[in-house]
Amino acid sequence: MTTASASDDVRFIIMGAGMSGILSAIKLQEAGLNDYVIYEKADRLGGTWRENEYPGIACDVPSHMYCYTFASNPEWNYRHPPGAEIQAYFEDVAHRYGVDSRIQFRKEITRCEFVDGRWKIEMSDGSTDEGDFVIAATGVLHHPATPEIEGLDSFAGACFHSARWNHEVPLEGKRVGVIGTGSTATQITGALADKVAKLSLFQRTPQWIVPIENPAYTEEEKAEFRKNPDAIKQIRDDVTRTFIDGFANILHEVDSPGLLAVQALCQQNLDDNVKDPVLREKLRPDYRAGCKRLVMSENFYDAIQHPNAELVTDGIERIEESGVRTVDGRLHELDVLVLATGFQPDRFMRPMEIVGREGKRLADVWEKGPFAYKAISIPDVPNFFMLNGPYGPVGNFSLIDVAEMQFSYIMQLIDQVRSGSCKELCASQSATERFDAERIEAAKKTIWASGCRSWYLDADGIPAAWPWTFDRFTKEMEKPNLEDYDMS
Ligand code: NAP
Repeated sequence: MTTASASDDVRFIIMGAGMSGILSAIKLQEAGLNDYVIYEKADRLGGTWRENEYPGIACDVPSHMYCYTFASNPEWNYRHPPGAEIQAYFEDVAHRYGVDSRIQFRKEITRCEFVDGRWKIEMSDGSTDEGDFVIAATGVLHHPATPEIEGLDSFAGACFHSARWNHEVPLEGKRVGVIGTGSTATQITGALADKVAKLSLFQRTPQWIVPIENPAYTEEEKAEFRKNPDAIKQIRDDVTRTFIDGFANILHEVDSPGLLAVQALCQQNLDDNVKDPVLREKLRPDYRAGCKRLVMSENFYDAIQHPNAELVTDGIERIEESGVRTVDGRLHELDVLVLATGFQPDRFMRPMEIVGREGKRLADVWEKGPFAYKAISIPDVPNFFMLNGPYGPVGNFSLIDVAEMQFSYIMQLIDQVRSGSCKELCASQSATERFDAERIEAAKKTIWASGCRSWYLDADGIPAAWPWTFDRFTKEMEKPNLEDYDMS
């Protein structure tokens, strides 16, 4: 990374204090670039892990892999970390690296304009700032998607999105409905089925489920991790290799042996663990495993077979004052309705107004959908880089590793300015168009395009995720090809 530089008096604006915003701050500090600020619209750091506090929330990526490579954590209590532990981890790391004091909370950026070589920032409270570079670390799954179901507002009980959990609402002894069967809904089902009076899971489409186990780490294991960081590294290396070979490198090719093995594993999981043949068939997807983002669960099938749980597969006709009416005419009476209906993954920094060179508005540039060269840079939007931007998700892989690789690539772009090679740079229009054309061709061949609905698909039905192998992503992030950049 960066060593000597011609110009270190550059100022950075980091948007967002989630995983990738904190990472950016730490990495800038490490490079001696201390003139930065993180603007965060909420009153706490943590991004996704601050926002998602639903019962059962955990990460299906194993703990020792779901952390920064430079900040391993011997204190993880489980193989798969619960959300609250991940939130505590980010708070701890931000504090240890001294970046928490650099976050300005309750600061919502509304507008960013590139004027005379600098970014001018406006915030909703009327304050302003300026910087040479902007790092957009605003997350992917950040804007909840509310389903358009007739009568949603007429429900008399408590109703909230899974990412806006209302902790004031008691659940014990209540009739709880959950709409959705993604990773979120399956985790909620696992956590609540035996705790509420009745749990009705409204399934529009079944999911393939990869079985996982989630044992607790013993005190002896944690003591060993504290004493011997190599033990953690060994686990991380092993798990990373398994993820790369078992998931991240196999999704781009529909009939890869790896994908067929995942299919067999999911089928066996369903056949072995759901006793009632009628329920089993209701839970059996008619599309390929991996087409939707894979759901990993240790307890979903047990939970949905709990006497308190009901899988509702008749479509939702409307929502009424006392519950959900399905198309078979039945009214499912409920006290609480949870919308585990996912997110709008194409929003990114929006609704911020971003204006690049010569008044070019991102809203216009992205009118047909978001794009960015290699998920990082947008033509005519110089000195502005995205982490986990469009096509950022890489084959079920940890977004932390992805963001680390992206940031090290971005630092090499920043170095071009610091060393005096140019004053501003962004991906060229032609390179972006070429990249996008190749990406679309590759995306059409991936498992995500094999015939199912999912949040990976853009408005044209093209998967908006990295369509090649993880290994290719690693290679491409090693070093920018400067010929693909407009440098002036
Ligand atoms: P999601 O995967 O997008 O699932 C949304 C669910 O809501 C789907 O089952 C969808 O049905 C259903 N739905 C949406 N609108 C509906 C409507 N109008 N009527 C009925 N059903 C409707 O959302 P998510 O579960 O929140 O997960 C999003 C992503 O977050 C995951 O894929 C994953 O990347 C991430 N996540 C990760 C973890 C983890 O452990 N690492 C945990 C949670 C979430 P259809 O399938 O029919 O569209």
